[in-house]
Amino acid sequence: MASALSDKLSRLVKEMRGQARITESNVQDMLREVRMALLEADVALPVVRDFVARVKDKALGQEVVGSLNPGQALVGIVNRELVATMGEGVSDINLAAQPPAVILMAGLQGAGKTTTTAKLAKHLIEKRKKKVLTVSGDVYRPAAIEQLKTVTRQAGAEWFPSSPDQKPLDIARAALDHARRQYFDVLLVDTAGRLAIDEALMREIKELHAALKPVETLFVVDAMQGQDAVNTAKAFREALPLTGIVLTKMDGDSRGGAALSVRQITGAPIKFAGVSEKIDGLEVFDAERHAGRILG
Ligand code: GDP
Repeated sequence: MASALSDKLSRLVKEMRGQARITESNVQDMLREVRMALLEADVALPVVRDFVARVKDKALGQEVVGSLNPGQALVGIVNRELVATMGEGVSDINLAAQPPAVILMAGLQGAGKTTTTAKLAKHLIEKRKKKVLTVSGDVYRPAAIEQLKTVTRQAGAEWFPSSPDQKPLDIARAALDHARRQYFDVLLVDTAGRLAIDEALMREIKELHAALKPVETLFVVDAMQGQDAVNTAKAFREALPLTGIVLTKMDGDSRGGAALSVRQITGAPIKFAGVSEKIDGLEVFDAERHAGRILG
C-alpha cells in the first residue's frame, strides 16, 4: 500500500503544482487517496475517519510556505499527523519507581507476551544495566511457565518459579517479595492470555494490577491482527490503565495499520516493536520511521 499511496499522492502533487493555496477540492481528492490507502493498510474505519478529519482541518486554507507547493504541503500535513497520532519521539520503559519496578504484561494468548517479556529483560539488562527477575502467572498452561524459564535464561535474567497449582495473585506476591529481598531493580510479570477476550481473564489481570501496582502496564498486541487489534485494545484499555503498547510481529506485517489504530484507541504510547522471534528482535518504536513506511 505504501507505494500505491505515494504514487497517487505524487500524481496529485504534480497536478497541484503552481497553485498558491490548498483548495477545498484538491484537499478532497487528496483525502480520498489517503483514506483508501489507510483502509488498505488495515486501519480500523473509525480511526481512518478521525484521522482524515484532522488532516482536513489542518489542510484547508493553509497558506503554502517557502518553496513548498500545495501538494507537498499536504503530504507534509499527512506525514506530521501520522507521526503525531502514533506518538512523537521515542519513549523507553519508565523505571521511576521504588525498586523493584514492576512491569505487567497484558494481551491475548499468542500475541507474543512471553517472548516480549524476555526481550524486554534483555533490553533492560543491556541498555539500562538493571537486575531483572521474571515470573509467569500463567497457571493454565504449564508449557507457558517453562517457555518463560527458557527465554529468561537466554536473556540472561533470573526466573522466579511458579506452578499450575498456585493462584496467580499468590505467585505475583511471592515474586515481588523475592525481588525486594534480593534487590532486583525490575520484576517482569508475564500473565495468562486467552484466545479471545474473557471476563475471568480480565478480572484476574485487574486483581494482579491492584496488588502489584506496576509502574508500567504494557499491552502486547500482534501487528498482523490489523484492524482486529482494535477490539482487543478496547477491552484491555477498559480493564487496565495501560502505560504502553508493544506491537509484535512487525516483521510479518506489510500493511502497518495496527499501530495507528491501537495508538488512537488506547491513547497509550507505542513503546516497542517486535521485529523477529529472536531474543534480540525488539526495537524502540520509531513513529517517524513507521509513518514513512505507511506513506512509502
Ligand atoms: P504469548 O502467548 O502472548 O506469550 O505469545 P508467545 O510469546 O508464546 O509468542 C507466540 C508466537 O509468536 C511464538 O511463536 C513467538 O516466537 C512468536 N513471536 C513473538 N513475537 C514475535 C515477533 O516480534 N516476530 C515474530 N516473527 N514472531 C514473534
